[in-house]
Amino acid sequence: MPDKLLESIVDTISEGVYFTDRDRRITFWNRAAERITGFRAGDVTGSRCRDNILRHVDEKGTELCVHGCPLAATMADGQPRQAQVWLHHHDGHRVPVDVRAAPVTDSSGAIVGAIEIFADRSDRGAVMEELERLKKEALVDQLTRVGNRRYADMALESRFHELETHKVPFGVVLFDVDHFKKVNDAHGHNTGDRVLVMVATTLAGALRRLDAVARWGGEEFLVIAPSVDLPTLEHLAERCRILVQAAWLDLEGGGKLEVTMSGGLAMAEPGDDAAKLVGRADALLYKAKESGRNRVLAN
Ligand code: GH3
Ligand code: MG
Ligand code: MG
Repeated sequence: MPDKLLESIVDTISEGVYFTDRDRRITFWNRAAERITGFRAGDVTGSRCRDNILRHVDEKGTELCVHGCPLAATMADGQPRQAQVWLHHHDGHRVPVDVRAAPVTDSSGAIVGAIEIFADRSDRGAVMEELERLKKEALVDQLTRVGNRRYADMALESRFHELETHKVPFGVVLFDVDHFKKVNDAHGHNTGDRVLVMVATTLAGALRRLDAVARWGGEEFLVIAPSVDLPTLEHLAERCRILVQAAWLDLEGGGKLEVTMSGGLAMAEPGDDAAKLVGRADALLYKAKESGRNRVLAN
């Protein structure tokens, strides 16, 4: 545990910092960690990092607390480590972070714990920067803060223009939350709204800098990805699906609420327009629902 002076210094830096003891019990949690995760120091100090708090996952959805915790490995061999992971935010969505773990030793050199430093990597920055500018023109969905339908229409128009004039390929993925009506029926419309925010925010954090995500309809989201080939877009879509599956909301009465999405993926082809392209994605989405949900289909 650092002394008060050290704590006050660590509190001023913009990266999240926490210390754990050998048992991976959190002993210190700085201000930036509070800001990035939504968890207050009082909520987490004393608990173990695997106790339902951060639950780091990699892009395959693997829970690192159980399989391959960087802190545990660092304490075992004394080597520092880095990883790109997504952590669980208090509000439910997944936040992309770069983590660095290093051992903490006592004066005799024995490893007594570890320090993890994590930086918010969400290019929500980049995805949202463009949207901030456009907000005044009412292109942002008021509930989820991603693009709205009008934004999607405009983005598609731009991508088609680039495709025709510069041969820049692009593709779309239409996602629809599975059994969302049941979420509303079981937990109420307000909780349903929170789930939509969680899904949209997780999608925004799963995408690359130039990708766009928009709320296409009620519980439907359209991802528009420029400069992709089919395998790249499939990989991106799978990452979106897995990270939404790995996100959850903590319910007030206890328990956690998770949802899955199905998706249809389509690459733009010569002679397409927005309706044809999204129509193909929609037909594949329908097939994904028919064949069991929680999957993305491409043709
Ligand atoms: P499927 O897996 O086949 O997609 O089933 P589903 O229940 O998700 O599909 P369905 O289209 O039957 O239901 C969608 C529900 O989404 C119905 C509607 O009330 C709800 N919904 C649409 N917009 C909103 C919203 O802004 N907030 C909330 N809470 N619910 C919404
Ligand atoms: Mg729907
Ligand atoms: Mg649905």
